Amino acid sequence: MSENFPEHKIELKKNEEILLSVDDMGKDGEGIAHWDGYTFFIKGALPGERVRARVIKLRKKFGYARLMEVLEPSPDRVTPLCGCASPCGGCSLQHLSYEGQLRYKEKKVRDCLTRIGGVDLSKVEWLPILGMDAAPWHYRNKAQFPVRADRAGNPVTGFFAGGSHRLIETKQCPIQHPDINDTVDAVMEFLQEYHIPAYEEETHRGLVRHIYVRRAFHTEQVMVCLVVNGTSLPHADALIARLQKLKGMTSILLNYNTEKTNVILGPSMELLWGEPYIEDCIGGIRYRISPQSFYQVNPLQTEKLYKTALEFADLQGNETVWDLYCGIGTISLFLAQGVPDGRVIGVEIVPEAIENGKANAAQNQMENVSFYCGAAEDVVANLVEERTAAGEQVQSLADVVVVDPPRKGCDGKLLDTIARMAPEKIVYVSCDPATLARDLKYLCGEGYELKRIRACDMFGHSSHVETCVKLVKKIINAKK
Ligand code: SAH
Repeated sequence: MSENFPEHKIELKKNEEILLSVDDMGKDGEGIAHWDGYTFFIKGALPGERVRARVIKLRKKFGYARLMEVLEPSPDRVTPLCGCASPCGGCSLQHLSYEGQLRYKEKKVRDCLTRIGGVDLSKVEWLPILGMDAAPWHYRNKAQFPVRADRAGNPVTGFFAGGSHRLIETKQCPIQHPDINDTVDAVMEFLQEYHIPAYEEETHRGLVRHIYVRRAFHTEQVMVCLVVNGTSLPHADALIARLQKLKGMTSILLNYNTEKTNVILGPSMELLWGEPYIEDCIGGIRYRISPQSFYQVNPLQTEKLYKTALEFADLQGNETVWDLYCGIGTISLFLAQGVPDGRVIGVEIVPEAIENGKANAAQNQMENVSFYCGAAEDVVANLVEERTAAGEQVQSLADVVVVDPPRKGCDGKLLDTIARMAPEKIVYVSCDPATLARDLKYLCGEGYELKRIRACDMFGHSSHVETCVKLVKKIINAKK
């Protein structure tokens, strides 16, 4: 067979088919193969596989090829449960066994830390990745489904085909909790029955943009938020009557987003029915969650992640601990239990999340936690300036600093301030190992030593991975 396909240097052209041996996986879970000086990225191919692929894009040194046929499958290959897994792109690893996914994620963290972070892993305690105990289906507690019109003009929902705004219609998402799928179904029935127009991106007309649903795992409370390009929803009473009957329904909201933007939520919310928030429990602590607030999407894994962060912080009971990028204060309250004679200071940019954080501390009777709203890089720098101006030593302001930034990692100014505060320990919780590695390189250059690492699978079937690391301040020889 192989004689029909080029394997060595000839002029490659677009649409040509070649045989490739896949030897690695890229950051988005795509297969990587090397072919006569070229690196090819092949979505859906796995390491160890021999595949037939069609060249779809060629650059000088690398190209993209479409998987046409798997000639020799990997022992890790499985059949995806969801028919939409390939075009959707959200679950870029559904064709890989769960054990294979966990191995891929650990390798991704290891590769980033060594290549970008320059970390010598032989000197670090590497704890095995925290995988899910059961197969990772129906685990997500949050969905944001776009609504668009089909050819006949009827509202439909589904997902955008990877990297585009072309809606692929689907009813069920197997990584969402079934109550979320049922809620989306009920909203869609309402939209179709009452002929509520779907949003049209090209003309910026139509009304309903997204259906946003959240479900609290432990309390089973459900929140629905309809994002509209307008300031009201016709027949809202009929929607409320329908949704009220669903299991766990607690909160029904409208969000107004009249901007031409990819950002899902607009600036204002209206409560249509119920409470303006839902509540959930993690590790015995009850949390209030507003729609604008960040909340981890995988409830069972979240508890494992937070326990790891707490273990890495190794609190003695009287420390001052900072929780930066704290959201609704989930990690802050976990930490607060560990410092009955100390205190926790949480910093977060979203005002609604800080409101939740304060209410959460109060309703759990935790008096040793305080919160500041603002960009962590500014708030912490300003607090340090104020306190040092008042005569405090910069090194006495923090014993432990926990950071949990979004994918872009920590702001450089913040890292600089943390290095000046020189806490004994830093616990870094990260959802992107590449920016984690970049930030670790900086902190290690500022006198910190990387001690422990543990990855955690928060996003089964996707290529994303969460990581928790512990850094400690190096003891400097005083005589030097
Ligand atoms: N630790 C929390 C939140 C982590 S997600 C939890 O586990 O739930 C990251 C959080 O950082 C989000 O809540 C986001 O709103 C917030 N954020 C983003 N940029 C920020 C900044 N510059 N300063 C402070 N918080 C920020």
